[in-house]
Amino acid sequence: MGKSVVFIDRDGTINEEAGYINHIDSFKIFDFVPQAIRLLNIHNILVIVVTNQGGIARNYFSEELVKEIHKKMANDLKNKGAILDGIYYCPHYPKAKHPLYGIDCDCRKPKDGLIQQALRDFQIDKNRMFVIGDKWTDLELGEKIGAKKILVRTGYGKGEILSNQNNPIQPDIITENLLYAVYEILSILKNN
Ligand SMILES: [Mg+2]
Ligand SMILES: [Zn+2]
Repeated sequence: MGKSVVFIDRDGTINEEAGYINHIDSFKIFDFVPQAIRLLNIHNILVIVVTNQGGIARNYFSEELVKEIHKKMANDLKNKGAILDGIYYCPHYPKAKHPLYGIDCDCRKPKDGLIQQALRDFQIDKNRMFVIGDKWTDLELGEKIGAKKILVRTGYGKGEILSNQNNPIQPDIITENLLYAVYEILSILKNN
């Protein structure tokens, strides 16, 4: 018996989409996010951030900066009573020149390496997994692992909906933002 889990994308879902975030001042958490995460915490649902940070491999910013941003993200949320259970990132990018990270890895979304790592680190009920993000790569990831797929209209969300009308993979749910996605999840879990 494991816990329910929500895998949440970072850029465009938790924080304002700002291209490659190469300075901590460009990292701005949406104001509805603490409430969304508190609700998941209260309902004993794991909250795990999964994010592609290929800018590390491309030398757009350092891995130290990503770690610093994640520390700030976790602390700012914690100060508002919202706890992240885990943060997993992929530093890779295929064909980038970085000696370590310029590889075709198995963890860059939509590949599921980050999820497999989380499944080793936590006791998770695989029948109660959700993925929330603003891009189709998040939905493809959800499809791969058999999670419920939720697309948010923040970040790239609205544009992604337009450009993926004929994509065979479609979200199970589309919501305005992360908080509404959490309301949907709570309602699904309550009725199961
Ligand atoms: Mg995103
Ligand atoms: Zn990777």
